[in-house]
Amino acid sequence: VAIQNAKSYALLQQFNQELEKRVRERTDQLKNTQEKELAKAKEVNRLKDEFVFIAAHELQTPVTVIRGFLDLVSEAQSKFPKDIQDYLNSMKNASGNLSQLINDLLEIARSENNTIKIEVKPINTTTCIKDEIKKIKPIADRRNIKINFKMPKKSPKIMADLIKTKEVIGNLLNNAVKYNKENGNVDLSIIERDDDVVIEVRDTGYGIAEKEQRKIFQKFFRSIKRETIEVTGTGLGLFITRMLIEKMGGKIMFSSVEGKGSTFAFSLPKAKI
Ligand code: ADP
Repeated sequence: VAIQNAKSYALLQQFNQELEKRVRERTDQLKNTQEKELAKAKEVNRLKDEFVFIAAHELQTPVTVIRGFLDLVSEAQSKFPKDIQDYLNSMKNASGNLSQLINDLLEIARSENNTIKIEVKPINTTTCIKDEIKKIKPIADRRNIKINFKMPKKSPKIMADLIKTKEVIGNLLNNAVKYNKENGNVDLSIIERDDDVVIEVRDTGYGIAEKEQRKIFQKFFRSIKRETIEVTGTGLGLFITRMLIEKMGGKIMFSSVEGKGSTFAFSLPKAKI
């Protein structure tokens, strides 16, 4: 019995070793296939990004030409019959949206292939906000939306890219006006903390339904609401906004109550000077 046991044990050990060897070989094979598939997927993704970038880049020139000629024709707009004037306005709006979409796609493509330029230096938060308010005010005035900005006594400086920070504030401010009700309010504030500065944009608009809130920063997400059906956009603004803030080492936050309004806020590192 002892001899038989010993023989069985040796056999079992041999079998075990053989099994382990096969498992190892199979695991290595699987790993290899997985790595190859991953490399293939990465290459396809890179080609897709490259295609989007080239397509958007090539579209830029004809759209600029169309917009240029439309501007020229518009100078004589009052001479045309009313229906032609309406067609011209629709063409201008559509080409404006197309141009925005192309710019958004280019910015995303640049960020994804890491060719986006971010030049971080100390910048003044109050000046950035005031400049962006100036740009949006005529649109807000048309719908009687008040933009309130309580300026801090001493404006804190942040370490960020000036153009990108203005773009971020402009995007949030634009949304706060676009998705606001007539006679609504937009409140901007600056909160200075130990290591960073928070800029907050609060609106009294239509808000975002709870079930849609997790999608708000996704590419091309647009909420379909009866009240905002006429509002044009690309669904890329918030995606780009978050991407830019994160590239500058900050964070974006938001809260919203449907029917009451939304608050978007972002933090960026404080300049230590
Ligand atoms: P766009 O405004 O071009 O559609 P965004 O990425 O800026 O794209 O916003 C995505 C969607 O999020 C908008 O279509 C809108 O439904 C919703 N949204 C963004 N900001 C607000 C806001 N302040 N109030 C209500 N809804 C908003």
